[in-house]
Amino acid sequence: MTVPDPPIVDISTLSLAEILPKPDSNVTKIPSYTRRDLYEERQTPEAGIGAFATKDIPSGTRIFCEEGILMLPDEAGQVELYNAVKALDGAREKMFWELAASTKPSKNVEWIDEVRQICDEDISSTFNDLIASYEQAWSIYETNRFTCKPLDNDAEKSLGIFPQSARLNHSCSPNVFHRYNPVIDRLTVHALRDIKVGEELLTSYIDICHPTAVRRHILKHWGFRCRCSACDSPDDDEDYRRKKIEDLFAKINKRRAKKGKISEKDCRRSLGNVVKCIRLLKKEGMEETDTLGLVYAEGVRLGMMIGDEDEQESMVEWAEKAVEVERKCLGEDSKEFIAAVHLLESVRNKNKSNDNDVDVDVSTKAERS
Ligand SMILES: [Zn+2]
Repeated sequence: MTVPDPPIVDISTLSLAEILPKPDSNVTKIPSYTRRDLYEERQTPEAGIGAFATKDIPSGTRIFCEEGILMLPDEAGQVELYNAVKALDGAREKMFWELAASTKPSKNVEWIDEVRQICDEDISSTFNDLIASYEQAWSIYETNRFTCKPLDNDAEKSLGIFPQSARLNHSCSPNVFHRYNPVIDRLTVHALRDIKVGEELLTSYIDICHPTAVRRHILKHWGFRCRCSACDSPDDDEDYRRKKIEDLFAKINKRRAKKGKISEKDCRRSLGNVVKCIRLLKKEGMEETDTLGLVYAEGVRLGMMIGDEDEQESMVEWAEKAVEVERKCLGEDSKEFIAAVHLLESVRNKNKSNDNDVDVDVSTKAERS
């Protein structure tokens, strides 16, 4: 099915208050679509079905904007999942069962007793089949679920099934970026760079900052060995850089999470980590993921706290880059993009007020002379 481009809402003239969802309103409902005019599903030699570009796709294009068929709280187990699958309408239930299942059965078997208790006596002859069905559902769920963080950062995350996006295969050097957008209640997938016709659309299932050995270990969960260029020919320098990025990012995040006033010395130290992290992300060709957006934004916040006037222009530049990265990876209706725009406005306003300070200073001097 070919789905036309969704209407593009020009939000450049709207204020932040108009863009952000009202606290008591429901999410903004927009159509669920996948750009079947840009890609097709095809069998791959090793990784099942994959999505391949049928046209050149420009960087930043939103290729998927998909509504989930199922969303469960993080703590849901086999019984909750099975009940939710059985409650789906026929078409959606079919979509669920058609998804790949590659994880091994869970070692935890307590849920089997739970199933036994809720089953009728006369089901005993088919009980094993029923358990196999529960296990199949759980494996599909574990293989395909996406993390869905709510708008409220402190609220619990959920896990959702988005059958079209679930077809995307993995690469540690991805050309598309996926994330659940709670503002519109959709999973979005954007092109991270210009994609040529014929290229497979590849997203990363994991944090690509991990070194090769760690990535391999985590990817075992999906039961495959990654064949991307970073994994097939790992080199020590590259692994060192990824490990370094991971460490710096952890330090930057730890600092971000700290509440209360921080000393100028700490600010400068963290800003030093930001500068190093940006340099390494660029060197590693990872400047297109939103990790870079987060690092730029944190750099701007630190720079504003320190308040060096010489650095103000670089702060505006970084804030502009953060806006650009979030627009490309997540789109203009994401909270990350809105926050980046807000940050850019603050740093520009700060610059303006600094300019005013200079004017006042000059006029005062003129009066004195
Ligand atoms: Zn890889």
